[in-house]
Amino acid sequence: MKLNIGPVLKNEGAAVEFDSTVELGRLEYLGNTFDFKEPARVTGRVRSIGGTLELSGSITGRYVSACDCCGKAVEGGIDIAIDEAVNSETEDFDPECFVLSGTALDISGLINSLVWESLPMRLLCREDCKGLCSICGCDLNETVCNCDHTVYDPRFAILREQR
Ligand SMILES: [Zn+2]
Ligand SMILES: [Zn+2]
Repeated sequence: MKLNIGPVLKNEGAAVEFDSTVELGRLEYLGNTFDFKEPARVTGRVRSIGGTLELSGSITGRYVSACDCCGKAVEGGIDIAIDEAVNSETEDFDPECFVLSGTALDISGLINSLVWESLPMRLLCREDCKGLCSICGCDLNETVCNCDHTVYDPRFAILREQR
């Protein structure tokens, strides 16, 4: 996503507002898939203060993923604050996040890294999700199966055989 910051580079104290969308698509993170069906919205502004570009704004979007425990579809959202400052004169900033060519500041890298950082490591359909039965595979949130979940201690197995 490229921002034309020409007016900001020329005038100290000037600001450029932006309101755009970014296609995030399908992200794979820690074995989970985050499917952004709609593009995420990126809004904010760039301001120049003493040779420093101040970036503020937000990234918002919604995704569909799966419960880590039972696999059911779970909807979630991102609402990330953008709050960055880069020095436009030294161009001493992370090229993974910012690319400045002429008056165009590309912040695609920054958006990507902020989105990745915000994805949850663990996602549950509900806090007390019981998951699936390890034997018959039924959803234990909805049904109670008759599977035997008792874990036998092998030391007692010998006693049972002797009976
Ligand atoms: Zn679940
Ligand atoms: Zn079962």
